Amino acid sequence: MKLTKVKGIVIREVAYKDNDKIITILTDSLGKVSAIAKGAKKTNSQFLASSQYLVYSEFVLYQNTGYYYLNSASVINTFYNLRIDFDKLQIVFDMTKMINSVTDENQDCEKILKLFLNTIYVLDKYEKDIKLVTNSFKIKLFTLLGFAPRQDKCSKCLKPLLEDKDEYVYYDFIDNVFICEECMNTVDKKRRIRISKATYNAIFFVIRTDIKKIFSFELKSYTDFELFGQVFTDSIISGL
Ligand SMILES: [Zn+2]
Repeated sequence: MKLTKVKGIVIREVAYKDNDKIITILTDSLGKVSAIAKGAKKTNSQFLASSQYLVYSEFVLYQNTGYYYLNSASVINTFYNLRIDFDKLQIVFDMTKMINSVTDENQDCEKILKLFLNTIYVLDKYEKDIKLVTNSFKIKLFTLLGFAPRQDKCSKCLKPLLEDKDEYVYYDFIDNVFICEECMNTVDKKRRIRISKATYNAIFFVIRTDIKKIFSFELKSYTDFELFGQVFTDSIISGL
């Protein structure tokens, strides 16, 4: 029997037969996998903690007739504070739903795991603005999947926008590009949203910064940042 050691977090658990569970684990080296945790529903099970939603563990897995099974597991982090905060838990539930829908079984997702762990670690340990955390997560997730807006220039006149003095830029959610205020006067306004320049700079900060540092910025208001996060994510998901 070949054993494989992985680190991973449970992003879904479903009851299976009388005492077992099927868990979906986002792992560091096997991608997203489903595994059967035999006897996990019994109170004396060695998998009682490690087979629960949002618990991060080191798992030893084996394969049998095409399925993964847990051989052993040791818990690394249960994210306890998060677990007892209903609002945060709901936010994380939406994140895992999103991760589940954009990843396939066995597809490499080491970076997505890193992003998710870092995000829930921040939610568990710190009192950061929730809009900052959730929308940075979304922007980085879709950046990792290859959907970042293509450039930091106006898509019409190619004026660089990051250092530009204009107060606003416009995001075209059909073409996933930005345009400047001046060019905005010449085009259809319906498919574009107006966002503040500070928000625009924050978006590119998240896109370009290492996963560990994406939450280290502040905005006076997160209204535009949230609006962008929503529109950006919705238009990508609807096109998938
Ligand atoms: Zn322009």
